[in-house]
Amino acid sequence: MSAPLYQRLILLFTCMPNSEFLNINKDNLNDPDRDYLFLSKGHDVPALYGTFVEMGLLDADRLKNHLSVNDNIYWHPNTKIPGIEFHSGSLGHLPSVAIGVAMDLKIKGSTNKVVCIMGDGELNEGTCWEAVLVANAYKLDNLIFVIDRNQFQANMPTEDLIPLEPLHDKFTAFGAAVKRINGHDFKALDEAFSAYPFQTGKLNVVIADTIRGKGLPSIERRADRWFCNFNAAEVNGLLKELHGEHLTQLTSETLVVR
Ligand SMILES: [Mg+2]
Repeated sequence: MSAPLYQRLILLFTCMPNSEFLNINKDNLNDPDRDYLFLSKGHDVPALYGTFVEMGLLDADRLKNHLSVNDNIYWHPNTKIPGIEFHSGSLGHLPSVAIGVAMDLKIKGSTNKVVCIMGDGELNEGTCWEAVLVANAYKLDNLIFVIDRNQFQANMPTEDLIPLEPLHDKFTAFGAAVKRINGHDFKALDEAFSAYPFQTGKLNVVIADTIRGKGLPSIERRADRWFCNFNAAEVNGLLKELHGEHLTQLTSETLVVR
């Protein structure tokens, strides 16, 4: 299955905004009767902004301003961008925000749902585990935590820093209903989200096993390619890895937009 570049970089979003699973579109962003998406691993925001372009929420030209001090498109989700529900920043913060929204929806008798995408390294924050306990205490089966299990926290393997495994067992022990899938498998993602709610009265957790740099073999799983700059030759090489040798007129902008 072919996919836009941003999906190939971070595939978790394919079942997210503008899909049949989440009721989020450009016309209902201020409608209380909508679903909610929180991106807690904020450095993934380029993928979310790429999704927003596809949804018609954002002009593609603004993607060129990423990290610019003259635009609000920077390192973390920013509520000045339509579609962003809440800022990220301190890791472990948004799961609790998502709980508040999910709890409010329950109190109102709404059937809308809340998704919070988290990093695996983020799970070193104790607030994440407190959030799981609270979600289960209040039977928030309208809440889904999606864990991007790419085995890295910044530039270190998670298991070398503070080991997380066995992650499935840990979430289960904390009372959640858990599915562990290949985060790059569209069919597996669809099947997982189609099974929502996983179990009545329980927090839903999707552990999505992913490979950092997926689709770019020369940089897959490379710790030194986290938060780095690529020169023009490297960019061209990466674009060829993505698109094949037949595309010869590639620019750095292609890497951003498609
Ligand atoms: Mg990670």
